[in-house]
Amino acid sequence: MTRATIVGAGGLGGPIAHARGVAGIELTIIDPDVVEMSNLHRQIQFTSADLGKPKAALLAGAIVARGGVARGYQTRWTSDDADDISGEADLVIDGSDDPATKFAVADWAVAAGRPYVIAAALRFGGNAMAGAPGFACYRCLFEEPVDAATCQAAGVLGPVVGAIGGVAAALALGLASGDRRHAGTIFVFDDLRHSAEPRVVRFAPRAGCTACARAAIDPLRPPTLVAEGRP
Ligand SMILES: [Zn+2]
Repeated sequence: MTRATIVGAGGLGGPIAHARGVAGIELTIIDPDVVEMSNLHRQIQFTSADLGKPKAALLAGAIVARGGVARGYQTRWTSDDADDISGEADLVIDGSDDPATKFAVADWAVAAGRPYVIAAALRFGGNAMAGAPGFACYRCLFEEPVDAATCQAAGVLGPVVGAIGGVAAALALGLASGDRRHAGTIFVFDDLRHSAEPRVVRFAPRAGCTACARAAIDPLRPPTLVAEGRP
């Protein structure tokens, strides 16, 4: 059974988990937070009965109730704990609301040689990036975390997180099945009120990327393919 870690059990993590958890993927769901009233409009997996309860365990319980396999941990995903949490994972999907966490997830996945998806939603749009060993990485594209506005502060439409979460889940399914056609690509939805057509940006590895310098497979120096069966 394919194993995936989902980082974030909120607006993006909810639809990602529901899409993946019933597709034969064993999920580990990580989120440090409990459900708050202000979450409910965009985190449709929770109700007012869930207020004050840990999001990760609630979401994992919902996946299990639908016949999936999932466990939830109320903790923040950090590089210190990553090997313990995700050492067995075949891929990692980030739907957190925190730029530092996104970089930590991507950097760990690159170093550990795992495919990954990083998803973000804000206001009326968002993006989802697919990464895999040997391809340009999240840090190749964005370099450093910036103090971006959070969903909590700037708001995001409920349907937007559902749409971006669905795209992230589909990209993750492709990666899990070995499909690399979208690796090193980011899908950008500027404003879903006006267009559901993403800008699809395939980007090149960046020389000097500190994550790629520690990569399991260096995208700047991919291994030489050796033809077999020849003298
Ligand atoms: Zn890189």
